Amino acid sequence: MDRINLFKEIEEECKKADLPLKGGSTNLVFGKGNPDADILFVGESPGRNEDLQGMPFVGAAGKNLDKLLAEVRLSINDVYITNILKYRPPENRNPEPDEIKAHKPWLIKQIREMKPKVVCSLGNYATKFFLSNGDVDKMDKQEGITKLHGKVRMIEFDGLKIKLIPLFHPAAIIYNQKLIKDWEADMEIVKQEINQKNL
Ligand code: URA
Repeated sequence: MDRINLFKEIEEECKKADLPLKGGSTNLVFGKGNPDADILFVGESPGRNEDLQGMPFVGAAGKNLDKLLAEVRLSINDVYITNILKYRPPENRNPEPDEIKAHKPWLIKQIREMKPKVVCSLGNYATKFFLSNGDVDKMDKQEGITKLHGKVRMIEFDGLKIKLIPLFHPAAIIYNQKLIKDWEADMEIVKQEINQKNL
């Protein structure tokens, strides 16, 4: 089966799963973009617009992400975009440990099947999540995005070897336009990594 159909199948399975937050949500927000792409973007959790449309990054942050991608001459076809949580936490509060634990296997499945060359964690939360292997208790001890953005790291995440490149969250860039230059420079690093041979 090709990967696009495989992802559709996994999404249908995920819809049927009894996940925390499902009861209070309108839609599952599984992912968008190209599962055959080299780059995977991972955000925190769906917001209100995402919940209503069943798509990640379609609100203000998403519009900014579209703009940022265009700035670095990439399209949605060059990336796959998802979140740690596939359902929206009420009032966009931070995910709770049991919610992370229940949702994590779906992200793992996406990474395992997609085999991206680079995973870009979007913002502080997703970066700390990857660096602590999804252990919420360890997240506080991790360095923040201001220090880590654009730095390439090989990490082990539930037995998967991942090349992680943290990026500023597109929502943060709306409020601090000075970060656009950093985002563009960081994406040049992402491009260099995916163009390297022997990956
Ligand atoms: N912020 C996120 O982290 N994810 C979304 O899908 C939307 C906003």
